[in-house]
Amino acid sequence: MNVLRRDDDPAPRPTRQPRRPAQEQRKQRQAPPEEDQRIAFVTGGTRGIGLACALELLEDGHRVVVGSRNRPDRLPEGLAWVPCDVTDPKQIDAAFDAIEAEVGPVTILVANAGITNDGLVLRMSDDDFTSVVDANLGGAFRVAKRSIRPMMKKRWGRIIFISSVVGAMGQTGQANYAASKAGLVGLGRSLAREFASRNITVNLVAPGPIETDMLDALGDDTKAAIVEAVPLGRVGTPDDVAAAVGFLASDGAAYITGATIPVDGGLGMGG
Ligand code: NDP
Repeated sequence: MNVLRRDDDPAPRPTRQPRRPAQEQRKQRQAPPEEDQRIAFVTGGTRGIGLACALELLEDGHRVVVGSRNRPDRLPEGLAWVPCDVTDPKQIDAAFDAIEAEVGPVTILVANAGITNDGLVLRMSDDDFTSVVDANLGGAFRVAKRSIRPMMKKRWGRIIFISSVVGAMGQTGQANYAASKAGLVGLGRSLAREFASRNITVNLVAPGPIETDMLDALGDDTKAAIVEAVPLGRVGTPDDVAAAVGFLASDGAAYITGATIPVDGGLGMGG
């Protein structure tokens, strides 16, 4: 393969919670023949929430490509990787071109790539603000826009944006991040309206605190304070988020569009 890389190294999968027996049975059904498989692209799919989403979609029988800025050392079996910095329109085009040439048209897009650059507003530079909004909101806009035409041709598509509970609640020190995540809701709902007639659904998942590198960066004290505020009394796992994404990508979610599903242990209730 040219740009894509399928890593058959039997690397251990990241820790995933044991599935319930019924779920397990569902997952053990046979994957459809390759020509019937849908093609999913997960931005920021090399670790954390994105990787869990990619594995969920793989288990659901789809062919899955993940994108990121840095080539991962290893990827679980079955996933392909393509370089795709969502702040760079040329890389986005090249990534979709490569997927279309080597795998086929993407009909499931998970716009997950995201960054933080926290700081109080009085110390936040213009660049601190716009760079986060450009990666999280601008990046989602760019990949969604690039994915739409092939979905229109297929008359079937699923776009899923990964927002955040912070988008609705706000968060001290995260004005840039919260603005970007709230912006995704307006973007997603507008796309949902524009492309509903083409049988393309656009939905959002709004995670609360999820155990990933991004959360780790906050430090133990902040994490403990966050857990205190979560009604379910724990941080979530990437698999908690991936389950909602898998559902939204499924045929079972055919009549859901413009929705935001919270996966936050109850943190944002009422928000
Ligand atoms: P991680 O930092 O663990 O992973 C981020 C992923 O995005 C990596 O694969 C990274 O790879 C990639 N990435 C970062 N910037 C870019 C870019 N410009 N272009 C392409 N890929 C990029 O984050 P999480 O898994 O925690 O978060 C995933 C999403 O979930 C984000 O949108 C985040 O805002 C959201 N979220 C996370 C929560 C949490 O508590 N963890 C809570 C709520 C929402 P690379 O660096 O190689 O590019």
